[in-house]
Amino acid sequence: MVRAINTNATKKNMPNKDTLLKGFDRFHDENYGEGGLMQTLTRDGQNPDFLIISCMDSRAAPETLFNLKPGSCFTHRPMGALIQPYVPDSRSSREIDAKLTFSIQQGVRDIIVLGHTHCGAAIGLASNADDPHIKPWLEVGKSALKRAQAKTPGGDTEALARETEKQIVVTGLHNLMEYPAVEDNLGKISMSGWLFDMEQGQILELDVDTGEFNVQKRDEADQIKKTGTFTS
Ligand SMILES: [Zn+2]
Repeated sequence: MVRAINTNATKKNMPNKDTLLKGFDRFHDENYGEGGLMQTLTRDGQNPDFLIISCMDSRAAPETLFNLKPGSCFTHRPMGALIQPYVPDSRSSREIDAKLTFSIQQGVRDIIVLGHTHCGAAIGLASNADDPHIKPWLEVGKSALKRAQAKTPGGDTEALARETEKQIVVTGLHNLMEYPAVEDNLGKISMSGWLFDMEQGQILELDVDTGEFNVQKRDEADQIKKTGTFTS
């Protein structure tokens, strides 16, 4: 039996839905009308440049962070930006492989795993959170946690969480490389690992040779092309 959702229970914390509709009015003003972007995208279809895999966190939406217009990127936003290892015939792997395939078919050539600091999933992993609804999903991040523990021996929970946020990106890229859609398109696509440092307001990029995350300068962003070479 499906439990009825008590809409009144959460009402006091909910903004009026007019907030959304006012936002849509602004979106409409900017994107519809003569020569509007949405009319073009509707008529010609989408041709995004990026697939960004990031956390569901409300503070780290790629379209907002990168000030993207409609039609610019596909997104996949699992909690923690955790990417499961490829398991043939599993539904979750099929979902990711389908998204990768469709994105590449639509012209995506840059796939970015975008982690972020102060991530609830990383904090949950580092503090061994035991919510029965969330913990089973966080199991996906156990290998990232192990890597982080090895890098922060004796560190406190916060230090472990910060390192886990980075290792989620590293292991996510590792896991993505196992997906058939990526294997079949090596040489055509670029894979990158980024981290949104929420406190500092910076985008860091994973150097796959050193495993370090470095501040990404704006004018260097266009030069990043590690086409199909992520191996370690
Ligand atoms: Zn997060």
